[in-house]
Amino acid sequence: MARLDPHSYADDSHAQTASLALTARVDFTTKTLDAEATLTLEEPSAGPFDLDTRDLAISSITDQDGTALPFLVHANEAILGARLAITLPANTRAVTIRYRTSPEASALQWLEPAQTSGGVKPFLFSQCQAIHARSVVPLQDTPRLRITYTAKLTIPRELTAVMAAAHRGREETGTTAVESFEMPQPIPPYLLAFAVGDIASRDLSPRSRVYAEPVMLERAAYEYGGVDAMIVAAEALFGPYDWERFDILSMPPSFPYGGMENPRLTFITPTIIAGDRSLVSVIAHELAHSWTGNLVTNANAEHFWLNEGFTVYAEQRILETINGAESSELDAAIGRRELDESLARFAKQPGLTRLRTHLEGIDPDDAFSAVPYQKGYFFLRSLEGIVGRPAFDAWLRTYLADFRFGAITTADFEAHFEAALPGVLAKADSRTWIDGEGFPASAPRPQSERLVVIERLDGALPDAAVAAKWTAIEWCLYLESVPRPASRELCDALDQRFHLTASKNYEVLVAWLALALHSGHHAVVPRVEEVLSAVGRLKYLRALFTPLAKDPATRPVAERAFEKNRESYHPISRQLVEGLLRDARALD
Ligand SMILES: [Zn+2]
Repeated sequence: MARLDPHSYADDSHAQTASLALTARVDFTTKTLDAEATLTLEEPSAGPFDLDTRDLAISSITDQDGTALPFLVHANEAILGARLAITLPANTRAVTIRYRTSPEASALQWLEPAQTSGGVKPFLFSQCQAIHARSVVPLQDTPRLRITYTAKLTIPRELTAVMAAAHRGREETGTTAVESFEMPQPIPPYLLAFAVGDIASRDLSPRSRVYAEPVMLERAAYEYGGVDAMIVAAEALFGPYDWERFDILSMPPSFPYGGMENPRLTFITPTIIAGDRSLVSVIAHELAHSWTGNLVTNANAEHFWLNEGFTVYAEQRILETINGAESSELDAAIGRRELDESLARFAKQPGLTRLRTHLEGIDPDDAFSAVPYQKGYFFLRSLEGIVGRPAFDAWLRTYLADFRFGAITTADFEAHFEAALPGVLAKADSRTWIDGEGFPASAPRPQSERLVVIERLDGALPDAAVAAKWTAIEWCLYLESVPRPASRELCDALDQRFHLTASKNYEVLVAWLALALHSGHHAVVPRVEEVLSAVGRLKYLRALFTPLAKDPATRPVAERAFEKNRESYHPISRQLVEGLLRDARALD
């Protein structure tokens, strides 16, 4: 018997789940799901069967014949949740669990009408990555195991349910509606995803549709209008798209991530709706996951770079096809900066700067950083540099085909690459990349004329004529290159000349506000407070709460902003900000 994932009680000597049938009544009043989950096993089984759960109230467990099965819910463990131990009699084919979720379920965010864009109807969404699916469904919550599923969600009639699955119908009776879904492609549990709210949709192409609250629909449809060109570019690079549809759900502002690659229905933050399609690289990233991550999946969170490093690499290749190499090099330069921030943040936990990590006793949400994304990307880029693009692309295609719908470890990647291109890993010093801390000095550098212009400025005030031609990405690169603290004169001049505090582009705005806060330029504080009330994206909360909490003069603003907005923030965001404030207080 062995537990092969440090973040799951799933045991590879136990029965394995093949499919899930979920029925749930979505209750906005109690903020719970009243649910029944039937897990059908790979083969008739007997003996112990351990499942992951978190904060579930379990009322009964039966087998396929309705016979009650003995079970024990173990004490809650801080990171893993509670082990649900079931004993299966001989020839058990399926297990049905009746339960209710907690209002505090870590995967679910229940939004009051006031927390939505429309402001009239409530909204519910799930975010199961990394290990939150267990707070919605009792299951073997490890990406080592893939399941297909069906789901029936009973919801208030005036709302609509969407799911990262095929829609199979809607039936209305009285005050409720039942929406049915089926996921034919097997997924790791962290890709289980749904949302319920006032949701409308518009077709973008024969295989893509955008879903959004009605007030956001038109803007979202414009912003994501180029999605089919991305799918065409991605298929040319990585092979056929295996998930039939690529739909997009534009999320409420409290969504903690830029995007979440839920298959068939990607979830995207509304903060990239800038009105000019300048921030849609997030879409390319989530689309790329259709191959890297969703098709070839990390076996557990210790190999997260196999999901994210490969996806940043694939995203960059899609963007290079569409926008040209110059533009994708600027994106790579942004990634390099994000990596530097994460390396600095983990100065006291250098183990988390490895690609292959050891996460026993560490919450994957606490280990989350740019390292698996950007260090992984630069590692793959260095491999490409050694073998040349044609050979690398040929290998990548076989890698995606050979591990299709599978879960792999770093060792599996190494063996596959070594077999195809012997000696290259050693030449790239892959040991240092994979198991070493920090960032190798030999790493490839982004190359771009436009980047050189920004670097030559060395943080000085740019000429108005030069900056007038800058894209949002160039603005971010410039603002992040300014040494901190910047002088009062520079901050004043930047804002007067370029009206940065009034920017409607969240990437530019937050880069500016962070620079200003790090420089003690307190004139921006009211705008910072506005942003912290308007969005709950982790990246922005971290960028703004960090300097706000560190500076004793603005610490009360940070405390106040968190008190005011904590209920609007997603549980994952709340956990992050609590940590930042605690760290800042500890410095006193
Ligand atoms: Zn990703």
